[in-house]
Amino acid sequence: MNESLLVMKYGGTNMQDARAVRHSASLAARSIREGVKVVVVVSAMAGVTNQLLKLADAAQSGDIASANDEIAAMRTRHFTAAQELGAAPDSDTVREIREMHETLRQAVYGVYLLRELTPRSRDLIVAFGERLSAPLMKLALEQDGLRAHHLSGGEAGIVTDTHFGNARPLTGTYERIKDRLSGLLSAGVTPVVAGFMGETEKGAITTLGRGGTDFSATIIGKALSATEVWGWKDVDGVMSADPRVVADARNVDVLSYGEVMELAYFGAKVLHPLAVTPLQDSGIPLRLKNSADPDFAGTLVQAQPRDEAGHPVKAVTAIRNVSIINVSGAGVLGIPEVIASVFDAIARENVTLLMVSQSSSMSNVSLAVQTTDAERTLNALRAGVSLELKVEQQDHVAVLAIVGSGMRGQKGVSARLFTALAAADVNILMISQGSSELNVSVAVEAEHVDEATRAVHAAFNLGRSVTA
Ligand code: ADP
Ligand code: ASP
Ligand code: MG
Repeated sequence: MNESLLVMKYGGTNMQDARAVRHSASLAARSIREGVKVVVVVSAMAGVTNQLLKLADAAQSGDIASANDEIAAMRTRHFTAAQELGAAPDSDTVREIREMHETLRQAVYGVYLLRELTPRSRDLIVAFGERLSAPLMKLALEQDGLRAHHLSGGEAGIVTDTHFGNARPLTGTYERIKDRLSGLLSAGVTPVVAGFMGETEKGAITTLGRGGTDFSATIIGKALSATEVWGWKDVDGVMSADPRVVADARNVDVLSYGEVMELAYFGAKVLHPLAVTPLQDSGIPLRLKNSADPDFAGTLVQAQPRDEAGHPVKAVTAIRNVSIINVSGAGVLGIPEVIASVFDAIARENVTLLMVSQSSSMSNVSLAVQTTDAERTLNALRAGVSLELKVEQQDHVAVLAIVGSGMRGQKGVSARLFTALAAADVNILMISQGSSELNVSVAVEAEHVDEATRAVHAAFNLGRSVTA
């Protein structure tokens, strides 16, 4: 292959301490020595993002002491890693880490003084996780004898809208990334980009949603027309179910962009739900690989699905912490304008609907939303729709989905799903099938979701130990 270019993304586990960072750097170095150009995209050290979110909340509520304790602990972790990676106390890297921690401390203090944490200040604070990881990876690459340069998401060219907490790249991003990174690459310098973050046109720091480093990597992959994007993980790629729930979950060799998007959307934490979107036009493949077993192929995500006879379903996944909002009102709800007002009210609030189902009498619409969105949804509906409608909320729900392009046009898949759930004594609260026929999803009581997942996984022969 001439002039191959790989974007390699490292998650929190791959960055959790000096040893992990060193190993991650060695994986990139291996490809670079084979003549491949590599752009490295890094996540925060494992746990750091949650810690930053927590300490920002503590500062807002007035508990600056515990916020400062958390910052101090984190600071020690970053300094220790830098030191173990060979940075001298007076080195540029140590100075940079010290400066970033000082800015972080000031930002958190500002939140405390104002007792106000806006989405914008939360993004500024939480992006420090990735910004502090990047110099560590740069150090490790240099220790490996390579030349490297680290950049924040904004410096690398990722420019986004102002949707703090869930920002989307603007179209100009792709040109800008090419401008900012091509020079480094042609000079033989490996760019190390802080994932998860970008900045607005005015320079305010934004984040791309939880798990957003995957998204940063594919945005960069598209911009540079990369040969492939590789996401290094602590699992063998995308598995047939969450391995923490299903002990015999096995890795899925090939998935289409559409399939992996459905899986991510329905809760498979292994990839950001929008991560493959930048790759769809160009068909750039995404590989998810286990950093502990780098020669294992992992999961290849590409345009075309690969279906196996007898295996219509490739994976089962679940979203927890879901609520069902029931809207009812005989005689009113059937009128198209009333239905439209229900969806308008929700759209204005920017709530993601996980499932929608409408009874055929049209006197009832059920909506599944994340529980964190439920109150907003209820308020929007109460304010924006006819007073004659009754709006009720049911909590402690989970949505379970089966995904696979082989389901298209296949009879009996839903029947197999329902039979498996019935045999496991799991009650179904809502059912929906996407028009793409890539998934069938059901809402169940949250307390039964794990056993439901295991039952469905077994019913579709997805495990390691069974063959169809
Ligand atoms: P990273 O920091 O590398 O992005 P994440 O923790 O975000 O890693 O995602 C990987 C984790 O996702 C795995 O460790 C696993 O516990 C979880 N996971 C949930 N569902 C799946 C699935 N279907 N396939 C693989 N991993 C899954
Ligand atoms: N560190 C961020 C998160 O925990 C982004 C990522 O890991 O991809 O969500
Ligand atoms: Mg992730």
